[in-house]
Amino acid sequence: MRKIRLLPDLLISQIAAGEVVERPASALKELVENSLDAGAREIRVELEEGGIRLIRVADDGQGIAADDLAQALARHATSKIASLAELESVASLGFRGEALASIAAVARLGLTSRTPEAEHAWRIAAQDGALGAVEPAALGRGSVVEVRDLFFNTPARRKFLKTPATEYGHCEEALRRAALARPEVVFELRHNGKVVWRLPRQDAEARALALLGEEFEAAARSLDEAAGELRLAGLAGLPAYSRSGRDAQYLFVNGRYVRDKLLGHAVREAYRDILHYDRHPAYVLYLTLPPDQVDVNVHPAKTEVRFRQAQALHGFVFHALERALGYARTAAPAAGVA
Ligand code: ADP
Ligand code: MG
Repeated sequence: MRKIRLLPDLLISQIAAGEVVERPASALKELVENSLDAGAREIRVELEEGGIRLIRVADDGQGIAADDLAQALARHATSKIASLAELESVASLGFRGEALASIAAVARLGLTSRTPEAEHAWRIAAQDGALGAVEPAALGRGSVVEVRDLFFNTPARRKFLKTPATEYGHCEEALRRAALARPEVVFELRHNGKVVWRLPRQDAEARALALLGEEFEAAARSLDEAAGELRLAGLAGLPAYSRSGRDAQYLFVNGRYVRDKLLGHAVREAYRDILHYDRHPAYVLYLTLPPDQVDVNVHPAKTEVRFRQAQALHGFVFHALERALGYARTAAPAAGVA
């Protein structure tokens, strides 16, 4: 038997990174969430080779002070919560303080940032768990995070990457989710030097139109229903725009993209009698509820959540959608859906 030892720091971070950074798209998701948490009004994303070679996220958010730059890359270091009580009603997208540390353990990372008070920006770089010095840099405002050569030092992980085209597709989908979640934020996406999207500040319907296309918008009902502290708004696609797969299903809970069995079931039930069993609805739905009614600390990637009042929520979502689709369960199939 070997002696029991503590793992080296870098290895601990590389193991932890397996949970948060599966591929370029998951690193991109984390970086964009950080920009949103920093209050960014504008987020510019640049990718090279599907994000494998470069992911660059620039924002105009509040920035990081020079003396906090190194700390931002430390494991379990966050500015977003300080106690269990705060975790229970957390409103930010992040709070685990793991993303930057994990990314820095499996890629070459550069972080440049400037707070409004600072006279100029500062930059720090990290590679193989070692942080460079904090040095003066040029940047007008906000933060720029650059992630190069993802998994360059973890060959086993690198082998699981797909082609740049496939990884790019995942990145675009991750950014589409963020852009649908926050239509009031300007988003730009470039890939290999070409602009793919340039989305202005919009309302939710205009953003859905821009990202999902006219056909969806033309065949969708908009809804906005509230009951107590619950609210469900967005666009529910009519059967005319049903799909053979589950692409085009976007559900946001308090601004966070989630995949949830319970809510997915409520949605399917609402469509049950108007949609053929092998067709899937398209939708962009925004559910809001008090933060203490939902536990987002279920999984590191946070696309899974738990609800306190699951049954009440199921009923609310089901009925709100059913009404929006203009269909009463007792009516004949497809009645009211013109
Ligand atoms: P978390 O988001 O869970 O706090 P991260 O590792 O993603 O953990 O980020 C660590 C900290 O770095 C954040 O809490 C925040 O203070 C700071 N930070 C990261 N990205 C940005 C950004 N784009 N703008 C401002 N601050 C940032
Ligand atoms: Mg984060």
